[in-house]
Amino acid sequence: MCDTKDSSQYDEVAEMYADFKELIKSVNYDEKCIETIDRAFEMARDAHDGQLRKSGQPYIIHPISVAKILAQMGMDCESLCAALLHDVVEDTECTSEDIEKKFGKEVAALVDGVTKLGKVTLSNREEQQAENLRKMLIAMSNDIRVIIIKLADRLHNMRTLNFMKEQKRRDIARETLEIYAPIAHRLGIRPIKVELEDLAISYLDEVGYKEIEQNLANQLTQRNEFIANIRGRIVERIAETGIEAKIDGRIKSVHGIYRKMYMQNKTFDEIYDIYAFRIIVDTVIDCYNCLGVIHDMFKPLPGRFKDYISTPKPNMYQSLHTTVIGKEGIPFEVQIRTHEMHHTAEYGIAAHWKYKLNMSGGKNTFDERLAWVRQLLESHDETAGVDDIVNTIKTDLVVDDVYVFTPKGDVKNLPVGATVIDFAYAIHSAVGNKMTGAKVDGRIVPIDYCVQNGEIVDIITTSQPGKGPSRDWLNIVKTSEARSKIRAWFKKERREENIEQGKEQLEREFKRALIRLPEEEREAFILKIAERQRCNTIEDFYAAIGYGGISLAKIMPRIKDDFNKLVSSKKIQAPVEAPKKRVKSSEGVVIEGIDNCLVKFAHCCNPLPGDQIIGFITRGHGVSVHSRSCTNVPADIEHCAEPYRWLNAYWDKGVKEEYNANLLITGIDRIGILADISVMLSNIRVLITNITSRSLKDGTFIMTCTIYVDGIEHLKSVISKIEKIDGVLKVERK
Ligand code: MN
Repeated sequence: MCDTKDSSQYDEVAEMYADFKELIKSVNYDEKCIETIDRAFEMARDAHDGQLRKSGQPYIIHPISVAKILAQMGMDCESLCAALLHDVVEDTECTSEDIEKKFGKEVAALVDGVTKLGKVTLSNREEQQAENLRKMLIAMSNDIRVIIIKLADRLHNMRTLNFMKEQKRRDIARETLEIYAPIAHRLGIRPIKVELEDLAISYLDEVGYKEIEQNLANQLTQRNEFIANIRGRIVERIAETGIEAKIDGRIKSVHGIYRKMYMQNKTFDEIYDIYAFRIIVDTVIDCYNCLGVIHDMFKPLPGRFKDYISTPKPNMYQSLHTTVIGKEGIPFEVQIRTHEMHHTAEYGIAAHWKYKLNMSGGKNTFDERLAWVRQLLESHDETAGVDDIVNTIKTDLVVDDVYVFTPKGDVKNLPVGATVIDFAYAIHSAVGNKMTGAKVDGRIVPIDYCVQNGEIVDIITTSQPGKGPSRDWLNIVKTSEARSKIRAWFKKERREENIEQGKEQLEREFKRALIRLPEEEREAFILKIAERQRCNTIEDFYAAIGYGGISLAKIMPRIKDDFNKLVSSKKIQAPVEAPKKRVKSSEGVVIEGIDNCLVKFAHCCNPLPGDQIIGFITRGHGVSVHSRSCTNVPADIEHCAEPYRWLNAYWDKGVKEEYNANLLITGIDRIGILADISVMLSNIRVLITNITSRSLKDGTFIMTCTIYVDGIEHLKSVISKIEKIDGVLKVERK
């Protein structure tokens, strides 16, 4: 250690530490705790030895002051040790391991947490980032004590800011106003919040601050008289009711008045409620009774009564607020609460770590300390009013989001588990689309790396044209924003691919639905559908199908309908696809005397299972199977020209294959009848391979069609269904 200590400085430090020790003794920290704090002080003092604050004072003054603020709040022993050591890892040779060795894991973790927060520079950022930054700081502090230490650290720095350069001073003051004071407010630590705000205003608007201070000082005697008078009257009246109450009056904070002047554009004289009285009682019932007394004494201003007892603020603040006006014509606020509520109002979440006297048994673990938060979370169902608190505490302590920085210092919040790809798309889709990799805190990471709180993420992009996201990314990303942006890219950049895919899909569906049209009709038909889907061209339509913007499954019924109408209105003869070559195995038909031969069904009669059949040995084409009743089959085979070529044949059992059947349908030529027939056939899944129709002069039509059926029974049922269609007169098998 350095031997050339300036003795006056040494005295200053010793004196200050002695003060601090007196304080902690008065707060009743126990012997063991004080001994540990002593060791922490010694370690910090030696480590910072020779370092000076901007004020020229020894550096150790700062950690002692921070610890003192925390001791005044009654924070626990670990917090005080961590406060004394909070700058040693960052600014001296000491390491986190050294601290852990001497003071244990808990203190080391607290110091690490504060050090980590210190590395995040928050100045000069957009105002709309403030909420994100606040959440990030809280999220980064796994242990909420870290943020409380950080608040105390900031408070002491703010108190000594006048040694900084002007610009730096303003930056820190603004950051304090936008980030730290709201955090103190969120955590319910009122005195720190108020002091941070007042200090920040004094640096940011020195003139405005002085003006208010001056104004307040001007009539200080009058004001004090007013306060004393009102207080005296309240004390008297409440005493009459027999309620035990602690009553005090004060002038509101400079920042509060400043904000009113600034926000409501008022002069100091126009700010009426600069006085606040506080009544602290034992029970909730006393609170409401006192409220009654106050409203009886003074005239309440309408709309100014707030019951934060039945509906606490998200930071757990509870109190009754009312603004009243006395016969002097000066309005003032009265806050009424219990001692317990007051305690919460002053210490907020910090109250939970308040050093407990006579802590018997084992030491409270961090988990035990968090018990109340959990209790609060679990009480979710019990009281509806608690919901607000629960949600806020949840967002603050059990954070679902991570907060990460861009290299320029903007904060992005993403859900837990979000990857660097999500981050890239959160910046801009152009960044995501050109992304080739990412660096986190300067290190290259894999593309599925999940970002963590406080990390600085740098997306590596390429300007190479044609590069884009990979379809795999859709399975990696966590946010729907990234997913939809990736899809949008494929929609835009992969047009050719999409057109191809869409076209294929449509063709497949057309085939399935038996939609066949001559080429020129087909195009017009598709264009009409496309236009209905708000696509200008057929290609756009295909592309939309391709990237999934249009669901074919949804629009096919309507298309089929259109097709049927088209067919019936124009009497279009749908082009017939060459019927699939149906290799009829000999299994379907048994030909007597021949085991395994090529069997064909004669086109003249198209026999169906169930029909009486007979085989005819052709020249070179195997056996042709006719219906017994076919005109081409001789009536008397035995006495025909070549009786040996006719063979007995019959259907094999269990045949289930498809056979052609020709139908001749006649009926009244009403509009839509042909469509009705084809729709019905398609509904019962009967394949039509050929269809022609002709209108006759007498108002009837003749339609011939070839359909596939699996046997005579099937055919009979199809025929009977066609016959039931309105207007159909006769259905014959041909
Ligand atoms: Mn510090």
